[in-house]
Amino acid sequence: MPYRGFCSVLIGLMLLTPNTPVPAEETDLLKVVATFSIIGDMISNIGEDDIVLTTLVGANGDAHVYEPTPADARALAEADLVIANGLEFEGWIDRLIAASGYTGPLIIASDGIEPLKADTRHGHAHLHGHALDPHAWQDLSNARQYVANITQALAAADPARTSTYQRRQQRYDQALAALDTEIRERLATVPEDRRTVVTSHDAFGYFGRAYNIDFRAPVGLSTDSEPSAQQLASLIRQMRNEGIQSLFLENITNPRLVQQLAREADVVVGGTLYSDSLSSVDGPAATYIDMFRHNVQQLLSTLALEDEPAVARP
Ligand SMILES: [Zn+2]
Repeated sequence: MPYRGFCSVLIGLMLLTPNTPVPAEETDLLKVVATFSIIGDMISNIGEDDIVLTTLVGANGDAHVYEPTPADARALAEADLVIANGLEFEGWIDRLIAASGYTGPLIIASDGIEPLKADTRHGHAHLHGHALDPHAWQDLSNARQYVANITQALAAADPARTSTYQRRQQRYDQALAALDTEIRERLATVPEDRRTVVTSHDAFGYFGRAYNIDFRAPVGLSTDSEPSAQQLASLIRQMRNEGIQSLFLENITNPRLVQQLAREADVVVGGTLYSDSLSSVDGPAATYIDMFRHNVQQLLSTLALEDEPAVARP
């Protein structure tokens, strides 16, 4: 009974650990919990110093397989607002809310985007219980919808600051829209026959749909599984037959699989893409916008090569 065990451990620890008193200057500030780093950054762009933000799954963390801690339950117990991605990304959030006793609103940042169905991409059969692809933040136009939802939620919970939140939304939305235009222009330079990329898990379906790149992966939409020998062999065959030369690590997944693909398909690893979380503050993807820029730069450095790849295929 992992569910009951989890709850009783959490509740036990919560009773043992008295809540830390909130400093006086913070008492009138909205306490917001973000489930993971990417929406945490979006929220802080709108809330800035007018909110107290707690992010559960931090830099380089993997929300697919996250196990909430007693400190997470305490953060929820004190929160005014909890904001999650939704689309089945945080499979642990309902359990955590129940264990924490939080009764406030659960805001789904992805509300209103057009979801990708799990089974429509490349005939992938590894759904792992996912009906929808949760990685909607990998499309800047979806991010603009996330930010609109976040702004609305902050304003509803803290009406006195509505115009402040809306002003920041307008500024951030303009930055996201400008980046979207810039990225479309830069990716348009990639030749049609170089638009296939292999990564660890299926995290870039929305990116692929938005920017016309064909992403493939040995593992499905979640990171909680290993590919079969057959799936791996099939991907290696595709890479050899189609001459796919673009292979990337992800910041949240074990590099072993991608290194094996590199060896067996005789391809050089192009670098690291940030899929499901930001980097630490001193890394190349410390904000959502930096993450997008970094990923596009990494892709272009491999995809937009004019010359033959440095390492010839056999
Ligand atoms: Zn993922």
